[in-house]
Amino acid sequence: MAGHALLGPSSAERWLNCTPSPRFTEHMMDSESPDAAAGTLAHAIAELKGRKYFGIPEPMSTREYNKQLKKLKEDAHYNKEMDGTTDVYLEHLKARAMSFGDLPPYVALETQVDCSNLVPEGFGIADCLMFGSGRLEVIDYKHGAGVPVSAEANSQMMLYALGAIHTYHFIYGDSIQSVHFSIVQPRAGGVKEWECSVQNLVDWGETVVRPAAERAWAGKGEFAPGTWCRFCKAKAQCSARAKAMLELGTTPHALEPASAAGTLLSDDQLGDALTRGRALATWVADLEKYALSAALEGRTITGYKVVEGRGSRDWTGGSDAAFAQLIQRGVAEALLYERKPVSVAGLEKSLGKAAFSKAADGLVQKLPGKPALAPENDPRPVYNAAATAFASENT
Ligand code: SF4
Repeated sequence: MAGHALLGPSSAERWLNCTPSPRFTEHMMDSESPDAAAGTLAHAIAELKGRKYFGIPEPMSTREYNKQLKKLKEDAHYNKEMDGTTDVYLEHLKARAMSFGDLPPYVALETQVDCSNLVPEGFGIADCLMFGSGRLEVIDYKHGAGVPVSAEANSQMMLYALGAIHTYHFIYGDSIQSVHFSIVQPRAGGVKEWECSVQNLVDWGETVVRPAAERAWAGKGEFAPGTWCRFCKAKAQCSARAKAMLELGTTPHALEPASAAGTLLSDDQLGDALTRGRALATWVADLEKYALSAALEGRTITGYKVVEGRGSRDWTGGSDAAFAQLIQRGVAEALLYERKPVSVAGLEKSLGKAAFSKAADGLVQKLPGKPALAPENDPRPVYNAAATAFASENT
């Protein structure tokens, strides 16, 4: 099989909604962002921890584990926060494995699942699967901090599950009755879980996935812009998205009947304008990023040019050499260095989660976060001012 499926589970939300997008973007270049590279590394560390704990494919000595971990940590994208986030993943794997009680599950890590019975040439790599007692567990690690991902009716996870049931059918037959899904996203909302029956999953596969996959494979269907555009290679250049975004900015729907100058927006209208504005801001950021790289390649983006951004100043020859000169010139050494208390997060990052927990035991208090505006479908609970005030008084 090729390294990447045209219609894979990881892009399912996009191609299920916008069926022409896979063929439309098939030959476009995909540049890997530093965030994606860090995510790949964090996945590798998470996988190694899982392999060590479960002894997959065979028991691993601590020496071998440390050797492999050290090698991963030499990657330029490594940072100490990854130690903690991948520990959260490992703890969740342990908890889910223990939920099977006295009959430990069969565990598969970074396993290819085949969903080609539903999706032409469809396959994907699932982070962790567990089988046992008539249940399938699908567990996915997400390193991203930007957009919290919900486990509920998550099409990527559901396709992994259908692929796993199909791939392992020769072992488990029809014995799997239910699926438990977990998304472990330590930097955005923690662990999110959901469950559904295999029957519901199979019905979804037949009624939603199969027909959409047929259209997507053939490059047919309507272009359908939505939140999934952010993962599309055409997100900056797609005319369907541009049209939808420009209409968002001009459709007066929400402003009627208060469209006359001199009136105030109602709360409904303001919320609607904010939702539209946020979508527009995301699209404009995509356009700017694309236009800058195109202009740097020598292309002309009408109405724009590349200029030098605001520069910064630094010590010639490095701070040590410059400070020596400054002291010679009569500047007091005390003025050259700042002594600041390190933050909780800063020390945790430097020490790593385990060493930090030990060193800072009993020294850290949880302070409530500032209220922040979030869309209605954000998985976090609604801010409760009274509960927050009570919690702060009691910490
Ligand atoms: S940008 Fe959006 S609308 Fe355009 S092809 Fe991609 S997913 Fe479809």
